[in-house]
Amino acid sequence: MIQIDENSIFDIIRSKRPLSVALNGPEPLLPKIQKVSENIEREFNITSYIIGERSWGSCDLNTQAADLLGADILFNIGHTISLENFGEKVFMINAFDTICFDTIATKCASELKGRYKTISLVTDSQHLHQINVVKRIFEENGYKVELGKGRGQLNDAQVFGCEFHPVHKIKDNIEAFIFLGQSRFHSIGIALSTEKPTFMLDPYFEEFTQINEEAEVIKKRAILAIYKALDARTIGIIIGLKEGQFAKIKALEFKKELNKLGMNIQLLALSEISNEKLENFRGIDAFVQVACPRLGTDNFFSKPVLSVPQAIALIKLLKKEPVEEFFKIQHWL
Ligand code: SF4
Repeated sequence: MIQIDENSIFDIIRSKRPLSVALNGPEPLLPKIQKVSENIEREFNITSYIIGERSWGSCDLNTQAADLLGADILFNIGHTISLENFGEKVFMINAFDTICFDTIATKCASELKGRYKTISLVTDSQHLHQINVVKRIFEENGYKVELGKGRGQLNDAQVFGCEFHPVHKIKDNIEAFIFLGQSRFHSIGIALSTEKPTFMLDPYFEEFTQINEEAEVIKKRAILAIYKALDARTIGIIIGLKEGQFAKIKALEFKKELNKLGMNIQLLALSEISNEKLENFRGIDAFVQVACPRLGTDNFFSKPVLSVPQAIALIKLLKKEPVEEFFKIQHWL
């Protein structure tokens, strides 16, 4: 069960005394956010707005919506990062999953015994508070457990879908990564970025899965998209309009490079990037998007949609330069 840290919200309201607040978070949390909003209005007699737009992470805070609504404070719920706030207006509020990992961690530690001696634990924001509990279980089973250090917005042992600093720093010291939680999305990212055996511990179904084969399929699809884009004459470069994903300079750099290599380029700007939206554009053979790197890898598109690492690989191929492992990096932007 997900528990929103309502106490922190109440403390911030008591200290800042806003006249109105806005709440935003991932779609599955919206029913719980509705409840928090009711509690805020009842407790403080102030206006509380719920922003129903998606919030994918700290890269997608919807502050423009909060500004339009005239809210004094925006609470972004469910994306724990190393920072508590962005300036005076945006506060990051924890939402932790209370599910217990004891059974599945004990099962995994017992079944992987003999295969690996040194492992690392990693997770997303919802299960960060469980890391030390699970670490103890693996240590009691004879493993050496190393936790990667955080950097930027990432806490120790935390990854985003496109940012992997804690696992990168230690990948050469350990034999396997164990991801706590049900997220194939994050587990696949770790497997692609480190190319180490990566297991996902699912506490709900009490099973653990090695994720590397699935990651390989995604990598092959990503390589195929790059090779298809090699034949393109016109490429649409998409600038994402979500504030934390806005990378106009990167888009202009790609435009310059690809123009030099003989490609026609159209610059496009979108807040939601989907196959349906891209089908509105005519005469474009492939797309490069500089917003969320996971859009093209994890969703269906009828034309190649390359993320930043793939676009760099495309440019290298066009220049007849060798292409290294383009996903085996710390940050895919
Ligand atoms: S993977 Fe996409 S949604 Fe997640 S942090 Fe990166 S840019 Fe944001």
